[in-house]
Amino acid sequence: MAEIHRVFATPQPSPLVDPFGRKVTYLRVSVTDRCDFRCTYCMSEDMTFLPRKDLLTLEELERLCVAFIDKGVSSIRLTGGEPLMRQNIMHLVRELGARVKSGELEELTLTTNGSQLSRYAAELAANGIRRINVSIDTLDPKKFREITRRGDLAKVLEGVEAARLAGIRIKINAVALKNFNEEELPDIMRWAHALGMDMTVIETMPMGEIDEHRADRYLPLSMFRKRLEQQFSLTDIPFRTGGPARYARVSETGGKLGFITPMTHNFCESCNRVRLTCTGTLYMCLGQTDAVDLREVLRSTDDPAALSNAIDGAIRRKPKGHDFIIDRTQNRPAIARHMNVTGG
Ligand code: SAM
Ligand code: SF4
Repeated sequence: MAEIHRVFATPQPSPLVDPFGRKVTYLRVSVTDRCDFRCTYCMSEDMTFLPRKDLLTLEELERLCVAFIDKGVSSIRLTGGEPLMRQNIMHLVRELGARVKSGELEELTLTTNGSQLSRYAAELAANGIRRINVSIDTLDPKKFREITRRGDLAKVLEGVEAARLAGIRIKINAVALKNFNEEELPDIMRWAHALGMDMTVIETMPMGEIDEHRADRYLPLSMFRKRLEQQFSLTDIPFRTGGPARYARVSETGGKLGFITPMTHNFCESCNRVRLTCTGTLYMCLGQTDAVDLREVLRSTDDPAALSNAIDGAIRRKPKGHDFIIDRTQNRPAIARHMNVTGG
């Protein structure tokens, strides 16, 4: 594997600050748009994925990550598509994990559907990954297959167990879906908390064409929380993981429950992140279309200053926030690209 050169001989972090004064310290990297699941709210049944030739190599992805680390990014999350489906992904995990060990990077995390986790958990832990998010929308095997269109819940739970045994902290992510899991979410929370795992519920976002009407599945979390509070005592806490989730402590379980509410209440004013796709496109906001092509810069010159300038230029274009709206009168998504492109 080619050696990846740092952007600067001596690290000179020049903090990335956007026009609204927000410091960008968090990079999400979608390492592949492919996935072994087809969650109904994320993808359509017939997805056309990117031709493999368009993908950045793992070395190129690493070079970009290092450029961001050199500019003050302290936390990187690998996502997708399904990140553990990317061929040889452990190469990138090892290289970035080494930067966690050396202290250049505070944290390397992963969001996964868990299907490959039993195979990789020990290696992830050995390479500096201390916490991961695993997406599980239901604990009913039949419903799990229905929502993922092909997932095997038992395999995912095996992966969760393997990660726990490897000492990785796990947060369970569940998208709140009307008439699908709204009744079950409290049980999923009890299960997660009983195993010492936090949980986050997420509002479905209007990204990409899917095979159903989003409004039919959209469950505002304000409504869900009100119902939950009839059974549980929730106390808001200032806990943050660097993401948009706002947390509450659940007295009965002792665990933490996070709410990601892009629809009912966005937290754009404290956004600290940008998103890199597997083709090297940098999105400065999940809910906007503006993007910067870093692949072209990466491939046109070895000059680290060019990449550094391109990143600075992108951050100068970071918008104030997104304008998500789920409109019952029409079924067009607010954003045409699917969530697997930018990884949520
Ligand atoms: N495949 C991995 C997984 O499922 O965890 C990582 C990528 S997935 C796109 C990241 C997260 O986005 C998952 O928790 C998933 O449930 C969530 N997600 C996907 N589509 C969404 C949508 N339209 N609205 C809200 N969350 C979505
Ligand atoms: Fe795949 Fe994750 Fe999208 Fe489900 S949510 S289809 S697991 S990328």
